[in-house]
Amino acid sequence: MKNTFKLYTPGPVQMADDILEIGSQQVRYFRNNAFMNKMLRIEQVFLEILKARSQSRLITLTASGTGAMEASIINCFNANEKMLIINGGSFGARFAEICKYHGQAYEEHTLEAGKSLNIEDLSTLDLKSFSCLLVNHHETSTGSLYNLDEITKFCKKNDLFLIVDAIGSFLADPIDLSTNDIDILIVSSHKGLALQPGLSFLVLNERAIKKIQQSAGRSYYFDLKRALLDGTRGQTPWTPALQIIDQLEVRLETILKDGVTATINKVKGLAEDFRFKLNSMPFKIFPENSSNAITALEPLDNRYSPDDYVNRLLIEREIYVCPNGGELGRKIFRVGHLGDLSIEDNDFLIQSIKHILKG
Ligand SMILES: *Cc1c(COP(=O)(O)O)cnc(C)c1O
Repeated sequence: MKNTFKLYTPGPVQMADDILEIGSQQVRYFRNNAFMNKMLRIEQVFLEILKARSQSRLITLTASGTGAMEASIINCFNANEKMLIINGGSFGARFAEICKYHGQAYEEHTLEAGKSLNIEDLSTLDLKSFSCLLVNHHETSTGSLYNLDEITKFCKKNDLFLIVDAIGSFLADPIDLSTNDIDILIVSSHKGLALQPGLSFLVLNERAIKKIQQSAGRSYYFDLKRALLDGTRGQTPWTPALQIIDQLEVRLETILKDGVTATINKVKGLAEDFRFKLNSMPFKIFPENSSNAITALEPLDNRYSPDDYVNRLLIEREIYVCPNGGELGRKIFRVGHLGDLSIEDNDFLIQSIKHILKG
């Protein structure tokens, strides 16, 4: 039975029919050569898509993106190494919560919601006291995209290890690891990749691999040394989400065939089309610099709150858009452009919003 609802959310997102079909298949046994070859191919294509430097590695974890965020911190540092966290919303705050939970030393550089990061503001801090910068490339809670070139240059200049959460930006905004040296890049399955939730990925450069090998590690399940070792022959320490791996294999080959730029341009085209059609309507685009992945909207017509749009779109049209939590939830809601959406889907959403505005 075909679903009638549509997701315009940051994740999970609409999955394509070929991906959905894989999700309904029997799962094969996996401690064998066929699986190992599949995993080695996935690693190769993943690294190629990101133009990762030679000696880079991919670790595939069965966990949502938060698991990979946590794994990166607890496998690289001892607790007294201090993290500098860019906190521009709830995903920046999540890095801080993970550090707090593990007794990891950290300091937050807090940004007002929707504001861009001015990298020079960090220069006033005692940069020598930090081991690592933690940043979300796209702070998905506000739709705000930070400048990766500035961040990578800054970290190089100040000799800071760099962990970038690219969960909200991968395949929506360009990321080129050949020009942007990022030690650990974090990605997950149900955002730009448009697969089921359940896998997350760590792309490690040579320095990160060394760091992991020299660190004690503070988790059994998320033991990245073990994952790296098993990964050299295409295995995983524990049973992974096999069906999502099958979906991933197909999705990566499609991206390789279409090209990364074309894949990103499709998302970008949808974002630009939606924002253009929104021009004549009573909304303000919230962030200073938006990711292509989502549009965060501030309603200007005070008859309706963000929740009114979120609820009515679902009840009247089976459209899922994304509410915000906390105080920001009274100000904005978010529309996603990732996954299997089209210009016609944009038109349907715009027309549905217009219908609400008619009263
Ligand atoms: C979705 C997302 C995460 C991970 O959230 P999960 O609930 O673990 O999937 C982390 N960071 C960003 C920027 C995200 O968009």
